Amino acid sequence: MAQAAHFSGSEGASGENMESSAAEGDSGTPGTAGGGNPVCLIVLGMAGSGKTTFVQRLTAHLHSQKDPPYVINLDPAVHEVPFPANIDIRDTVNYKEVMKQYGLGPNGGIVTSLNLFATRFDQVMQFIEKKKQNHRFVLIDTPGQIEVFTWSASGTIITEALASTFPCVVIYVMDTSRCVSPVTFMSNMLYACSILYKTRLPFIVVFNKTDIIDHSFAVEWMQDFEVFQDALNQETSYVSNLTRSMSLVLDEFYNNLRAVGVSAVTGSGLDQLFVQVEEAAKEYEREYRPEYERLRTELAQAQSKKQQEQLERLRKDLGEVSMSSTSTAEADVAGPSDLILTRGNCEDDDEEPIDSDTDDLDHTATEESKEHESFGNFLKARKEVIQVRNKKCSLPEGS
Ligand code: GDP
Ligand code: MG
Repeated sequence: MAQAAHFSGSEGASGENMESSAAEGDSGTPGTAGGGNPVCLIVLGMAGSGKTTFVQRLTAHLHSQKDPPYVINLDPAVHEVPFPANIDIRDTVNYKEVMKQYGLGPNGGIVTSLNLFATRFDQVMQFIEKKKQNHRFVLIDTPGQIEVFTWSASGTIITEALASTFPCVVIYVMDTSRCVSPVTFMSNMLYACSILYKTRLPFIVVFNKTDIIDHSFAVEWMQDFEVFQDALNQETSYVSNLTRSMSLVLDEFYNNLRAVGVSAVTGSGLDQLFVQVEEAAKEYEREYRPEYERLRTELAQAQSKKQQEQLERLRKDLGEVSMSSTSTAEADVAGPSDLILTRGNCEDDDEEPIDSDTDDLDHTATEESKEHESFGNFLKARKEVIQVRNKKCSLPEGS
């Protein structure tokens, strides 16, 4: 499915190319939720929790209901996307080329690829806007490592762009089979809680892999503090002390939490999920939309200037992304245009898969406003080093 440059450099005209025709579902029921707007489901979760499988299952389910979703893959490093994606970041950004050019490791490459993509997310918004009548749902699969999306500037840019236009719901996928230890359960819930506050969006916890183990124990832990304490009392680890204190804090979080058990493999629990999604979408309209509308107005006024500057700086630092060119010939004057590819260009795909460690993620950059700047400087410096090194390598001996 080699598509030409999927982002169009110029507005409008050739922009249609960006979307995969394989994923087209125009025969579907027109969007109804949110007054003709599709509901965006942003799927987040730890590596291996089953996000991609879940999106695949949802896609298949909705297709079978003659209600095809609009699907976006934001994971630049995934080998196979097992669902027909309307927009695939891999059609736009060559993740391996990004790693090579900036001398980054796997996770640095993913962060940078996502940043590149985020600088053009306005175009993605236009595509969704154009197709919104044809879809009730937009499904968004995110990179394996959750922090790449939730704690990066690009994740925020993408989430806010979506949420200021469409009703959005965060689906937090958990691997139920890995939550049977109360300490692990608590850690995962703390993470979920932090994301709830970070994204400021309606939130559904999906206990996935219920074909392996039923999620009722987790629901009980959330509903009955004492049962959880009993389970915790079996633990003798040092961290259980922290867990005990934290569980008091999380009680409030649980009270307002939507949780549902599913199996992405068997498809069980999906009906219940859609009931929750509908409720969450209503909650967005009722409680979150006014906030996002305010944000949008603010953006349009004072803030937009600052954000625009940040975005511009990010664009400048990364170079201008000409989405209409797929040439890799001019690597010396490389802006990221040479990082843009079609799938067909990526020939060394059989290299080792990236592991789910986060060894070269920069955990120090947390404040987004600073992140743009330091990230840009870092990339510039990085690129210079690589260019000097490449030049040295290509010099004839003795010179
Ligand atoms: P991601 O990193 O969150 O996108 O996770 P994947 O979708 O790639 O899934 C990770 C692993 O979990 C894969 O081996 C899947 O087959 C498996 N998996 C995902 N969902 C389920 C499920 O509902 N049941 C079972 N048994 N395995 C699942
Ligand atoms: Mg995945």
